[in-house]
Amino acid sequence: DSLLEVRNLKKYYPVNKGFFNKTQAYIKAVDDISFSVRKGETFGLVGESGCGKSTTGRSLLRLIEPTAGEVWFEGRDITKLSMEDMRRQRREMQIVFQDPFSSLDPRNTVQRILEEPMIVHGAGNAKERRAAVERLADVVGLAKAHLQRYPHQFSGGQRQRIGIARALALQPKLIIADEPVSALDVSIQSQVINLMQDLQKEFGLTYIFIAHDLSVVKHICDRVAVMYLGRIVEITGKNKLYDQP
Ligand code: ADP
Ligand code: ADP
Repeated sequence: DSLLEVRNLKKYYPVNKGFFNKTQAYIKAVDDISFSVRKGETFGLVGESGCGKSTTGRSLLRLIEPTAGEVWFEGRDITKLSMEDMRRQRREMQIVFQDPFSSLDPRNTVQRILEEPMIVHGAGNAKERRAAVERLADVVGLAKAHLQRYPHQFSGGQRQRIGIARALALQPKLIIADEPVSALDVSIQSQVINLMQDLQKEFGLTYIFIAHDLSVVKHICDRVAVMYLGRIVEITGKNKLYDQP
């Protein structure tokens, strides 16, 4: 039972070969990949830096417009949606970035940051939003008193909790986690991963978990797709992962 089905996805970035050379060249960042993600699973996307993981993750949400291919989510191809419908669609599909600092507005309190997606999507009135924000803080283990603080007043691990809370604000079905723990100390990494696993159980979430390092994903992923130079070279199930040294 699949939640997401990616068919022949491509993303070619045009590259500038210089002013006089008019031949168009492309970087084939994502070069014809297909995979499907089952409801409730954690699907890993791994591979060395530059192999196309982030481009894939962003293309699925159309934060980057794919060059070709189809992305089926719950029975419809969302690459065909208008941008307005796509923005609405993103209630169901959220992304968590490696460094939440870069995506958390430094001028806003955490309260405001967590409220923002609900305001943008017209979810609830002010009172309901406040209650929802307190629930979110609770769910990710953030003290209520901290809601009045600003992003720079938190450690990396706490900021990632804020990033995760914001991604959860609209009760999505799918979360694309793009190297969510890569910038964190190893001891903090496992805390964030444990949190993600708890949230998955509690809310029945489906994850796409992007990492350059197999060691991070192999404990939490049900299946892992290995990317190399824009292609998926292998999709491996959990049992196989544990066999590897
Ligand atoms: P990964 O997430 O696996 O590190 P990326 O998806 O970031 O890989 O990048 C894949 C390839 O696309 C790399 O060669 C990268 O240099 C190139 N690339 C990424 N973003 C752009 C862009 N905006 N313009 C041109 N090339 C890009
Ligand atoms: P802005 O908020 O000014 O649009 P951002 O860099 O914060 O710029 O976001 C760029 C795009 O990514 C926007 O369309 C925004 O809605 C979307 N976006 C930001 N954060 C998330 C998230 N956690 N999940 C899904 N989409 C997001």
